[in-house]
Amino acid sequence: MRSAMHKALLALGALLVSSTASAETLISNVNGIQATADGKIEHFGSLLIGDDGRVKQVMKNPTPRLSRFDRIINGEGRTLLPGLIDAHGHVLGLGFGALQLDLVGTSSLDDLKQRLRAYASAHPDARWIIGRGWNQELWPNKRFPTETDLDSVVNDRPVVLERVDGHAYVVNSAAMKAAGVTGETPTPAGGRIENGLFVDNAKNLIDKAIPTATPAELDEALAKAQDILLSYGVTGVGSMSTALGDWQAMKRAGDAGGLNVRLMVYADELKLLAEVPHPTDWLYGDRLRMVGIKYYADGALGSRGAWLKQPYADQPDTRGLQFHSDAEMLGLADKAAAAGFQVATHAIGDAANAQVISVYEQLHAKYPGDRRWRIEHFQIADPADIPRLAPAGIIASMQPTHQTSDRLMAEKRMGLDRLCGAYAWQTVLKTGAKLAFGSDFPVESANPFPGLSAAVSRQDMSGQPPGGWIPAQRLTLGEALHAFTGGAAYAGFAEQKIGTLEPGKWADFIIIDRNPTKVDAQSLARTEVLETWVAGKKVWSRAPSASRPERGQ
Ligand SMILES: [Zn+2]
Repeated sequence: MRSAMHKALLALGALLVSSTASAETLISNVNGIQATADGKIEHFGSLLIGDDGRVKQVMKNPTPRLSRFDRIINGEGRTLLPGLIDAHGHVLGLGFGALQLDLVGTSSLDDLKQRLRAYASAHPDARWIIGRGWNQELWPNKRFPTETDLDSVVNDRPVVLERVDGHAYVVNSAAMKAAGVTGETPTPAGGRIENGLFVDNAKNLIDKAIPTATPAELDEALAKAQDILLSYGVTGVGSMSTALGDWQAMKRAGDAGGLNVRLMVYADELKLLAEVPHPTDWLYGDRLRMVGIKYYADGALGSRGAWLKQPYADQPDTRGLQFHSDAEMLGLADKAAAAGFQVATHAIGDAANAQVISVYEQLHAKYPGDRRWRIEHFQIADPADIPRLAPAGIIASMQPTHQTSDRLMAEKRMGLDRLCGAYAWQTVLKTGAKLAFGSDFPVESANPFPGLSAAVSRQDMSGQPPGGWIPAQRLTLGEALHAFTGGAAYAGFAEQKIGTLEPGKWADFIIIDRNPTKVDAQSLARTEVLETWVAGKKVWSRAPSASRPERGQ
């Protein structure tokens, strides 16, 4: 009775003051959960937010007197987490992907052809048909698609379909013609062309021919990406391989007050150096900052572009693609570091990881201070190389869902005995190195909850394999949550501003439909976000009809 009355009073209070323009807000009666830097779970019951959008106080169990606060919102016992941060994603890629032909989950070549046919007839005005997300590993015969396959569906305009890992295109004849590629075209170094398939550096031949997106198209894609991210509870992103047009779209959004996801931006190689010669300050109320430069040391494992120390088990004539000589890689990273940028380098294979570690060790000796060298993916490492991360201040920026997606393919490419240092999250932490988690969206879904689930279980959404894949690498929920919040913030030099809910930091948080400390990994993966708040303002909430039956589990 008393609590019902208390509830009614709180609701009345919220009603009375909801028109107040700027004021303190108390989010009360929540199951607040956050992770500390050492991976412990911390509980709290309410959150006081100042009118500047920052956290004023985090309280265990307050029994606040109504009059003390301008505005009170009763959380009704629901679970509240800090806004999740994806340390490595491709923001415009996510937006464009959502607007382009979606081939994720195609079950066969015929399925791909059907989706292509439907999209082509629904978009008669599209000059080029661009799609992404196919993965021949999921198809019955695992054969790569060819130009002839695509020509049989669309031959009146160019078609470019990107593989799920972003490291290969399959194109039709019209696209090759537009790109001026003939049988005589030499294969670029670090690439491969066969039957309409353009792998790694060969993709540039096609990229050059694709009409560039207009500013209006970029703006639409950025808005779409933010919608998707906020719906998944992602309030901060390490925006990787950002091109000049992307950066300009982000600034336009900031100028227009339309940035709700905080972006820690990494330029695509040195291409922006003329435009942005040094890291910027935080802009638009800590919503945008150019912080670093992203390089590539190798390709991906699926297309056998990852650079390995030993030959591929399933193709012994190759060790993958080395993108740069040691001297070249050092020169590139040094140039970024000298300009004050953070350096982030993509490395998947064990040879690529060893090369990048060596480069960072040299730069760490040359540039004293807090530089936070990043390795993106750190997927397959030689176990002997992992202890070299911490002493050189190298952050492992990893993606838990890559492990669940790649597991069977990785076993084929390398053999199980060479995977002791693969997706080795727990080993990274044990050696004292910093770990940041992300999804590499749109390579994987931008939804961080399947990532959290994979991190604690080493199992996919359907619970495979039983007991988890190399289960010694599982993390605790606190360790995984930290990697997706404070760890990802640290990786972008933002841990003083976001990543945990503490006085002075931004009130970026989410309300979710279940308690991650009380559900199993499969349920955790299916967590639904109900509300997303940034700087103390609700910027996204789930439409009631959109709730799925799992809600409340
Ligand atoms: Zn990426």
